Amino acid sequence: MNKTLTIALSKGRIFKETMPLLEAAGIKALDDPETSRKLILDTNHDNIKLVIIRATDVPVYVQYGAADLGVTGKDVLMEHGGEGLYEMLDLHIAECKLMTAGFADKALPEGQLKVATKFVNCTRDYFAKQGRQIEIIKLYGSMELAPIVGLADIIVDVVQTGSTLKANGLVPLEHMADISSRMIVNSASMKMKHEILGDLLEKIKEAVNKKS
Ligand code: AMP
Repeated sequence: MNKTLTIALSKGRIFKETMPLLEAAGIKALDDPETSRKLILDTNHDNIKLVIIRATDVPVYVQYGAADLGVTGKDVLMEHGGEGLYEMLDLHIAECKLMTAGFADKALPEGQLKVATKFVNCTRDYFAKQGRQIEIIKLYGSMELAPIVGLADIIVDVVQTGSTLKANGLVPLEHMADISSRMIVNSASMKMKHEILGDLLEKIKEAVNKKS
C-alpha cells in the first residue's frame, strides 16, 4: 500500500457514516472535521489523506483527480453529470427520494409549468424525457416556499420523511429518482492505482453488506 490515496468527504452525516466503513478497511482519521479547521486530515496511513469539502464539490475534485475517490449523494452526481469518474458503490447513507411536489388540490396549468429547484439538470432531463414544457426557476434553498408565494407551480427537491413538505401544505407528486450516498472513483486513478483501490473498495463493500 505505498501509492498515495486522497479521499474526498464532506462534514456531517457523510463523514460520520462513511468513517466506520473506512475503518472496516483499516483507515482511521487522526482528526475530527467537526472540531478541527484542517481541510486535509491525516490518517493512520502516511499515504492516505482525507480532504474535507462540500458535498457538491466532491465530484469536481474526483473528476480532475485532485481526489482519487470520494463520497457524495446521487443527486449531486446526477447534477454533475459523472464526467471523468466511476460510480462504484451505493453506501446506503442518507437515503431519500428526488420528487416533484406541489399542492394536492390545485390543477397544474395546461401549458408551460414553472418548476423551482436547485436540481436544474435533473429537472431539465426528467421533463424533457416526458416531452413536457417547463420553465426552471433556480433556487439555492427553501424550495417549498416557491409554490406558496406563486413563484412556481411545483418544486423538485429531495424528500425523506415528507414532513417538510407537509409543514408547508405541499404533497409529493412524482418520484424522479432514489437517492443515497455513492462512492465515486477518478477514472484514471482506477487504472493507475487499481490494486490499492480494488482492495479498499472490496473491504468497503463487505462493510456495507454487513451493515444492511
Ligand atoms: P423531510 O422533511 O424528512 O422530507 O426532509 C426534507 C428536507 O430535508 C428537505 O428540505 C431536503 O432538502 C432535506 N433532505 C432530506 N434528505 C436529504 C438528503 N439525503 N440529503 C440532503 N438533504 C436532504
